[in-house]
Amino acid sequence: MAALWEDVLHNEPAIREAAAVAVDVALLEGVLMRTEEQPNMSDVVNYAPFTLLPSAVPSALFEQAYAVQQDFNLLVDAISQNKEFLEHTLASTIKVDDFTAQLFRIHMQVLEEGLAQSVFLGINRSDYMFDCGVDGTPALKQIEINTIAASFGGLTSRTVAVHGQVLKVLGKSKEASRLLPNNPSKGLALGIAKAWELYGSQSAVVMFLVEEVQRNIFDQRCVENELWNRNIRVIRKRFRDVFEKGSLDDAKRLYIDGQEVAVVYYREGYVPKNYDQQNWEARLLLERSRAVKCPDIATQLAGTKKVQQELSQPGTLERLLPGRAEAVARIRATFAGLYSLDEGEEGDKIAAAAIADPDRFVLKPQREGGGNNLYGEELRQVLQKIRDSPERTSYILMDKIKPQPAMNYLLRAHSPLQVSECISELGIFGVYVRHGKEMVMNEAAGHLLRTKAIEHADGGVAAGVAVLDTPYLV
Ligand code: ADP
Ligand code: MG
Repeated sequence: MAALWEDVLHNEPAIREAAAVAVDVALLEGVLMRTEEQPNMSDVVNYAPFTLLPSAVPSALFEQAYAVQQDFNLLVDAISQNKEFLEHTLASTIKVDDFTAQLFRIHMQVLEEGLAQSVFLGINRSDYMFDCGVDGTPALKQIEINTIAASFGGLTSRTVAVHGQVLKVLGKSKEASRLLPNNPSKGLALGIAKAWELYGSQSAVVMFLVEEVQRNIFDQRCVENELWNRNIRVIRKRFRDVFEKGSLDDAKRLYIDGQEVAVVYYREGYVPKNYDQQNWEARLLLERSRAVKCPDIATQLAGTKKVQQELSQPGTLERLLPGRAEAVARIRATFAGLYSLDEGEEGDKIAAAAIADPDRFVLKPQREGGGNNLYGEELRQVLQKIRDSPERTSYILMDKIKPQPAMNYLLRAHSPLQVSECISELGIFGVYVRHGKEMVMNEAAGHLLRTKAIEHADGGVAAGVAVLDTPYLV
């Protein structure tokens, strides 16, 4: 696996030429990001970071990841409808984690009031790494599933063309023709369009709920464009706009600026810093409404790390997906070891094991967006400090996945061209729509490969660590 592209990797003139072409094609294809200096203006934009060369992905594991995606869609949807499961699983977490607790409070309030929403839209991304076993055979292991604001489906729809041309420039036309087509932005839009249609009001709009800082707007525009192409009107609003101008009518229809909203697609609202008091009020208003939320708050909670850990407990998957033994087996095969740090003997034992051998584990708080996990010496120190306090229950422990590194060039604006030892993470986008009790759409909608230099333990593309990539199946 490490030997892919070996013949050109250190041919400096060829690499330089290919990199220059790669950057221009990325700009032409729209693999774009706004700049750090001007994150809310498109006057000056840059290319989103990406690898020069596609990375090797074992085809059996790639197929396995696609084959389990519909199962994960069903699972997430089942969790979101299971009040008791969420209540029981998050009970210890919400005692110590204010953010999860606040989400949970809204979830309960909406349930008590009675759900006004009858159409449900899930867009998630299940992320994996290829764990290298003792005998060197890679295995597909899930890192996490993102049930809110799963990004880069838009930009990655445009990286295949870039990598295809790079391979051609390097004299590898045959390899270029083997790159798989990939268009998550279309798949995501088809889900949103289906939810919009089932909502049943021609004049209602789709609202993208966006952050105050919008560097990654082009990724979202890819999906927006697919909707406009289907004659569905899209508006972009922030929590602040919803707080100031949003309202519900007697039937809990959501209006903003006089426009009825059929679907709220969150690209915001997944980390504490997205919220102040007003934004929490806006979130509550949205959740109480009849509009289709992607995701609703229960589905967001289904994506917490604590839920992921609980799913790995014996019997849990079987209870959530009764009568679906094959789906359960497919899902379980992707699980790495996950451990609760709840108070008690089991938690004490695993905490001690992690303190003794931190490199075997990753320590994860209930946070999204990259850069929050703890590794190695830092893991040891933090865990030592909190091992006897209730605070430790706001974390989970996970076995550290150890993929086989490969050499590549990471292209970033204003950065020197140099070869790096890299590892990759494969994400599969899942899209589903439920109408009342009936699943009317359940799809795998494309993939995302992200690659980073091995010296970074954590962090995604938005965090400036990983870059976009394209899988080359081997
Ligand atoms: P976030 O919600 O912040 O994205 P993740 O669970 O995806 O949290 O972790 C962030 C990053 O940390 C991942 O993209 C991956 O690079 C690394 N990581 C997470 N879990 C593991 C693991 N078990 N083994 C190795 N690396 C991991
Ligand atoms: Mg992640």
